[in-house]
Amino acid sequence: MSYLVLARKYRPQTFDELIAQKHITETLKNAIKTDHIAQAFLFTGPRGVGKTSMARILAKGFNCKDGPTITPCNKCKNCVEITNSTSVDVIEIDGASHTSVEDIRRLQNELMYPPQSSKYKIYIIDEVHMLSKNAFNALLKTLEEPPENVKFIFATTEPHKVIPTITSRCQRYDFHRISIQEIINQIRTIIPNEHLKFEDSAIFLIAKKADGSLRDALSLMDQILSLGKKKITKADILQVFGIVDIDFYNTLTTDIIENNDKAIIDNFHNILKEGNDINEITAGFIEYLRNILMLKIGIVLEEVPPDNIKSISELSKNFTEENLLYSITILIDAKEKLKTSTQPVLHLETTLLKLTKLKSLVQIDKLEENLQVVKEKHAVYSDSITSKPTKYQTDILEKKQLIEQKDKIKPVVKEKKASKLTFTDFKITEELLTKEWEALKEKVSKEMPVSAVHLANIKLKSINNNFLHFSTSSKLAYQTLSDIAERLSRIFTEHFGARIKVNFKLTKTESKKFIHNPTFEDIQRESPKLAKMINIIDGYIISQKRE
Ligand SMILES: [Zn+2]
Repeated sequence: MSYLVLARKYRPQTFDELIAQKHITETLKNAIKTDHIAQAFLFTGPRGVGKTSMARILAKGFNCKDGPTITPCNKCKNCVEITNSTSVDVIEIDGASHTSVEDIRRLQNELMYPPQSSKYKIYIIDEVHMLSKNAFNALLKTLEEPPENVKFIFATTEPHKVIPTITSRCQRYDFHRISIQEIINQIRTIIPNEHLKFEDSAIFLIAKKADGSLRDALSLMDQILSLGKKKITKADILQVFGIVDIDFYNTLTTDIIENNDKAIIDNFHNILKEGNDINEITAGFIEYLRNILMLKIGIVLEEVPPDNIKSISELSKNFTEENLLYSITILIDAKEKLKTSTQPVLHLETTLLKLTKLKSLVQIDKLEENLQVVKEKHAVYSDSITSKPTKYQTDILEKKQLIEQKDKIKPVVKEKKASKLTFTDFKITEELLTKEWEALKEKVSKEMPVSAVHLANIKLKSINNNFLHFSTSSKLAYQTLSDIAERLSRIFTEHFGARIKVNFKLTKTESKKFIHNPTFEDIQRESPKLAKMINIIDGYIISQKRE
């Protein structure tokens, strides 16, 4: 079988050949150089990152005729036998298939005998976490009083499953995932040896699909080589591994931004026809949008080729962070549902079309404002009810508080600026306020878009020494505006260049007028567009729940 060919052929044989785990090779080399060699080692890390290779190289370092050495010769009998897995003194045990107490007893008995032709007897136990509890206990006894010329090298992908009493007796080394760039470099060194040609983008796709495992990368290459082609293209890789090309996602995203429903569905059907898996398509799109989000919040994307970064950063301008979060949430949700859906294609079609409403999602603050206005028009504000907000009100309030917290970062500087203003004998009048009202509202809207909507529901009651007293019959407006009274005062102060204060009163006269909460029909009548949106975004932003 070709499966292991490349991985075996290019298995590293010296510390320096082992890529990407420099932090470990350096420490081990130092330990050997300074003769601080532990009795037991625990190698942890994902699969295919070099744990077993490192164990064998370390064994050679111990048992090479020149050993202990950091540069095993790879020529002496001991080295060659370790390379070929035929050394009687280096015993490799697969934890997954040797889990019985019997196995460990045998191991314990064997330990009594000294190494036959090397300095050390070395036990390499792979997937050590798979050992049974009894086997673990037996092993522990050995570890407590190990014969001097015995070494243990344990490897595991799941260190948390290794019992602490074992872990504590080992020197632990954590192996890293291998970066895409390191895998690419490794593939590049192999290609000329194999007299092959690969398109750069083909190499990248293999490295990415290998997901941090060099061994996986090499077996993916084995699969590609079985095609028998001399020049491997990106298209080959896409086809053999069923990878969805980023071009598809670029086009899909552009069509979503442009509300191009027909193109979305056409492209989706085409890519399905090409044999791509619907789950892969969904997962790929989630990753794609995630990358856009990361780019937007300033994370460096090392695992995306520069060409792709250019295209997605261009597209990212069409999204807000909120936008992307919602889209990703919708897709993750869809991905879950695909697992059990009897009509997966239909399911993803509707999900993709849902995403075309992204632009409406941009208007989320507006949407909430509208909701509040409608809500207030119908709200029951009898005292008994207002003390306990409905779920719907809570959602809005929380959202509003979040936005305002975010706003709070700014005022410090601005307030300092305001205090520098020279205050004159300026006296504000009702006429002046009316004249400037629109401009003021705009300024407030800019800073506090959600709260600003309440300015529509207030009345000027009196002015006293530049102290503006407003009243409102809406409890929500009263609460919201009272909370931001200081900030409003600051905005007014800056606007007029004179110290101005605002304050709000709740008038009780109208508070019992309203009789019911808005039904969906009310919202439909008040704002058909909003009702439509509620239909579309159902469940993702605010849902009004009524018993
Ligand atoms: Zn040697």
